[in-house]
Amino acid sequence: MALDYMASKAKNLHREGESFIPTHCSYCGMQCGMNIRVDDKSGKVVGIEPRYEWPVNQGRLCPKGVTAYQQVEHPDRILRPLIKKNGKFVESSWKEAYDLIERKFKEIQAKYGKDALSVYGGVSMTNEKCYLVGKYARVGLQTKHLDYNGRYCMSSAAGGFNLSLGMDRGSTFPWPDLMHSDCFFLAGSNTAECHPTSITWFWRGRDKGAKLIVADPRETPTARIADVHLDLRPGTDSALANGIMHLLIKEGYVDYEYVEQRVNGFEELKQVAEQFTPEYTSKITGVAPEKIIKAAHIYGQAQKSVVMFCRGVEQQRKGVDNVRTYTNLALVRGQIGKFASGVATLTGQGNGQGGREHGQKSDLLPGYRKLTDPEAVKYVSKVWGIDPSEMPGPGVSAYEMLDSIHHGTVRAMHVVCSNPAVSSPNLPNVWSALEKLEFLVVSDFFLSETAEFADVVLPATTWAEDEGTTTNTEGRVIKINKIREPLGESKPDWQIFSEIADRMGRGQHFQYEKSEDIFNELRLASKGGKADYYGITYEKIEKNEGVFWPCPDLEHPGTPYVYQDSFPTPDGKANLLAVEWQEPGEVQSKEFPEILTTGRVVFHYLSGNQTRRIDFLMEQCPEPYAEMHPEMASRYNVQDGDIVELETRRSKMKVKARITKAIRNDTVFIPYHWGKELAANQLTNDCLDPISRMPEFKVCAVRLRKSQGV
Ligand code: SF4
Repeated sequence: MALDYMASKAKNLHREGESFIPTHCSYCGMQCGMNIRVDDKSGKVVGIEPRYEWPVNQGRLCPKGVTAYQQVEHPDRILRPLIKKNGKFVESSWKEAYDLIERKFKEIQAKYGKDALSVYGGVSMTNEKCYLVGKYARVGLQTKHLDYNGRYCMSSAAGGFNLSLGMDRGSTFPWPDLMHSDCFFLAGSNTAECHPTSITWFWRGRDKGAKLIVADPRETPTARIADVHLDLRPGTDSALANGIMHLLIKEGYVDYEYVEQRVNGFEELKQVAEQFTPEYTSKITGVAPEKIIKAAHIYGQAQKSVVMFCRGVEQQRKGVDNVRTYTNLALVRGQIGKFASGVATLTGQGNGQGGREHGQKSDLLPGYRKLTDPEAVKYVSKVWGIDPSEMPGPGVSAYEMLDSIHHGTVRAMHVVCSNPAVSSPNLPNVWSALEKLEFLVVSDFFLSETAEFADVVLPATTWAEDEGTTTNTEGRVIKINKIREPLGESKPDWQIFSEIADRMGRGQHFQYEKSEDIFNELRLASKGGKADYYGITYEKIEKNEGVFWPCPDLEHPGTPYVYQDSFPTPDGKANLLAVEWQEPGEVQSKEFPEILTTGRVVFHYLSGNQTRRIDFLMEQCPEPYAEMHPEMASRYNVQDGDIVELETRRSKMKVKARITKAIRNDTVFIPYHWGKELAANQLTNDCLDPISRMPEFKVCAVRLRKSQGV
């Protein structure tokens, strides 16, 4: 592995009177290595320095990373449990909060059945907590209603990889390989802003002659450095991928030996791709034929190429098809399972990879075992010390769980480390659902927009107040270290789950003293599953700069490259997808003539509950805006900085216009990191992908007009 250890000690900025504690960033899936500076006298967190020796970021951090430490002792931290009394939160003791939770949970289950309780998890937590949230719901609360915010993030990539490659590991190669690749094909990823330290790998690759292709409706900072920018109409990804496939076949770029030996479905794909000529593809996507041809030649000629995608591709009602049609490209070029080549999804949340592997998803058990597989249920039940008949069946996806509140199926919810009142689509529907809940508990360290709906808020710890593991975008399991004791009366989520489970009479299944106890149970629960962690220990992670799963036994070194010899499918071969393109759930009409898309900015993270509290980040980007092309602006007589009203079939909102040529003239972009009247997700479509149940955040029809006031 190409590790850059250059003079790491010389660059170590260690100061007198301070300790450096190595850990990883709390934000995105890069999980950049950093040292937290702690004042030896006061024990206070005083700053952050990058870790030069960490292979993924090699001394680089983005603006979020360098300020992440400011969350830990932030004055907005919730330090004691809060109970809502007469519409206002009042501080309480843990005993009073738990008494109330126990009484309400038991009353609701007695009246409506076990499944009336629900748990909504999150993947900014460690693997230990993500694992335990699944056990907490199924064993502690005995409900089938469990899902998590990764449903809005990684589910289409997971669905696509499972169907195409037989397994859902976000990257088929380790990141430092990137500087040895000849071509990067980035689809729906503004890497420079969303995974900023990754962009340097592409820069380094390009310095050595590699080419960059970017497919994005916006000319993002990432697209700006591309050799070809495929400025496609939102919602047309699979058509674009089929168009590139058409040319790979026609121009002789297919690796027939690889296809013959390792791939199913080529003839069917060839038939579908036949019609996707550059002209036909251009008609659907809006991308000029010559750009499609140029991209196909660049990608086709590269000896070592990677296809990488992100939420732009995945957050669509055909997100799984999109993932699979882009994965097709890497398969027919014979690129998967090799050095500096392959396919990857860039993980949004810190533990977006590990958090989806160990049973936080409505249909999965630890190690990617399926709840519908009786053998899997039997195995995990044994690890958990319950009878298989006690294991609840599969529940429903995150948005469907929130929606089911309207139908009375779900009556109470425990939201953990997540903010669905900002991050869900069609927010008016979600807000009214949260209001309807008979009882809502939220665990978080800042009072989120979701917590404002709660009856009880439990103060959780930040990432710096507990140890554990996460799994980064590469599939590398890494160690998060404890920096300080929990602030105030806050507690780690695993302790909160265990104590509530105890109140529900299930405490015998939650006997843990520390995170490592949970990790050891997770190792066992995942043993023999696709995401097998059995051979990973805290000690091994620290010795080896992380361990890539699968790692089935203690002697196993881990698996940086997956699929080298075969795919984990019944016949060992990958499956190409031959699929016609379909329109998004909503198309432009006379009434709603423009396209709305949403996304991130470099200064904020997800719902913004953390980053909107950091002064520096807010100074850089204090509010959302509507980015639009000058031609669109002139259609509505809008000037830069004017307030515009955007309206979809669900709701309307007002934001400032930001006029730029760096976007298609039929598309408006709004960043989604704000809540309430500034929430872009008031407008987005809750149409779901049939396989991943991912909402279509990235495309809907919108109308706009210049507003006279805020
Ligand atoms: Fe943190 Fe991601 Fe920025 Fe790295 S790139 S510092 S992990 S937010």
